Amino acid sequence: MEQPVLGELDSTLFSLLSASSDKTYFYMTDFHTNITRWSKSAVKYFGLSGEYITDIDKEWISKIHPDHINAYRAHLQAMMDGTIDYHNIEYQIRNAEGVYVWVNCKGRISLDANGNPEYFAGYVSNLGRRNKIDPITNLFTMFEFRSDIDRHLSNGASGAILLMSIKSFKRINDQYGYRFGDATLFALAQKFLSDFKNRAKIYRMDGADFSFIIENGTKKDVEDLHRYLVRSLANLAVNDRILHLDFHASATVYPYDGDTVDQLQNNLYYALDFAKKENRTDPVFYVEKFYLAQTMHLRMTEALKESVAHNFEGFYFMLQPIIDGEDGTCVSAEALMRWSHPDFPKVGPMDFIPILEETGLIIPVGKWLIDACAKALATHADLPFKININLSYRQLQDPSLKSFIIETIQKYDLPAERLTLELTESCHVDDTTELAKILQSLKDEGFSIALDDFGTGYASLTVLKDIPADIVKLDHTMTRTITNKPKDRSLVEFICGFCHKTDIQVCAEGVENEEILSIVKNAGANQIQGYYYDRPLPLEKFCNRFHSSKIYPIASR
Ligand code: C2E
Ligand code: CA
Ligand code: CA
Repeated sequence: MEQPVLGELDSTLFSLLSASSDKTYFYMTDFHTNITRWSKSAVKYFGLSGEYITDIDKEWISKIHPDHINAYRAHLQAMMDGTIDYHNIEYQIRNAEGVYVWVNCKGRISLDANGNPEYFAGYVSNLGRRNKIDPITNLFTMFEFRSDIDRHLSNGASGAILLMSIKSFKRINDQYGYRFGDATLFALAQKFLSDFKNRAKIYRMDGADFSFIIENGTKKDVEDLHRYLVRSLANLAVNDRILHLDFHASATVYPYDGDTVDQLQNNLYYALDFAKKENRTDPVFYVEKFYLAQTMHLRMTEALKESVAHNFEGFYFMLQPIIDGEDGTCVSAEALMRWSHPDFPKVGPMDFIPILEETGLIIPVGKWLIDACAKALATHADLPFKININLSYRQLQDPSLKSFIIETIQKYDLPAERLTLELTESCHVDDTTELAKILQSLKDEGFSIALDDFGTGYASLTVLKDIPADIVKLDHTMTRTITNKPKDRSLVEFICGFCHKTDIQVCAEGVENEEILSIVKNAGANQIQGYYYDRPLPLEKFCNRFHSSKIYPIASR
């Protein structure tokens, strides 16, 4: 019900005021419509159904603790009757996690010319944060946690903090009811106090989060505490039930990781989010570079989405020559994706392709690249016969990929033989049967299939057995160092021998100098790629430098 409860200016003021604090929750009721507008932070914290509420009984009053509900109603009635015009009351109410918190609710009512209530506005503040002791668990509160850290920091003390969050606490509330949820929190607190009181000072944070400050503690102390916590929570008796609780944890060390309370608290919650996201079982220690990497990752994700939305702005590709080991002609060019963005000047495909994969953007961007390569083949007569295009497993799983490639080459009037499709990350694929089917059907259309990154994953040979590859690409991590690693040399010889017996060609990547060239040639590589010939080049430069009619050196001069 997105009905404005306020005029435009008032609404702007309300939004500004609401955004000014996420620990104070603002509300405003318009008695003409009986709609109450709540600040976004209140919607989130108390689990309201939206910013605009009509059923105050259901959304608010029903969440008030039974011991306080009558006092609340009496207060409200007195205001409606006009006996009081100011509201200032403390009570307990359930938050979104189903946990009771103490709040103070202040507000004022205004009457119209006839003496009827017109507007009611005010704010709710969370007292749990200001009290020293949490009423449900009898542990110290977050307020006390903050003032303790503040004191330690100003005394120049050091220490370690562990923050833990019980997994799926909401499920306990949903399944067994709130009273049982509260009893669980209380039982947890008792268990913590009996097991760890001498090791750490224990606090109840928001919801089902607890923290432990180990004064003078170190990283090792946190790890020890974590181990004991796992054991301590394996069996927790609550009323007549035994619960097996799991939790996520994060940790930070002060003053090393931060010298203000806010910084340390942010670190802890930041690392806790990470622990939850990655479902980690060990405590995640805050490290700055990991924080920076994460914010960078988020910014880059947004920028990539924007580029895709703006017609693939900033995406382009480079071409690297692939030379025939027999006759020295340039038989193909591998298209390597690039992305330029003013905020990320040094970003390479190893940085942005994983994000494209994660977000699924690799599907549209991959199609954009296929189109751009086909167009280049159709419009640049100087290009070699083929272009190699990289495709990840995720791209190959896209059911529309095959028809897209076929339509694209038809659009530019090209035969399928002019594209080689390189399967990247082949070693990470579990289900080779499905993959083999997809690749076979592309091969049946006339496309060549290359297995990329060969030699980097332990499963390489198994994959080769199942997949209908025409070409195997020996990864540059293996060939580049071949001159000082005799084992790599034998491995390359072995792979070439195996492939030739099964009618598969071998392309050696990472050929940086003549010495490597002669080793891979002698081992039997059919195609050569690497800095020895050239680095990946922009399209025009590539066409100026590599012609299909020219012969390039393939043996020691
Ligand atoms: P890749 O497919 O194995 O590509 C070869 C990489 O090795 C390229 O890095 C290339 O610049 C580099 N390289 C070539 N010759 C040499 C050499 O002699 N020495 C050394 N040290 N390196 C050499 P680049 O362009 O940074 O690409 C990295 C990876 O990004 C590619 O590895 C590929 O897995 C991925 N990638 C690039 N473009 C695409 C794309 O369009 N789609 C997908 N799915 N992945 C792509
Ligand atoms: Ca490749
Ligand atoms: Ca490769």
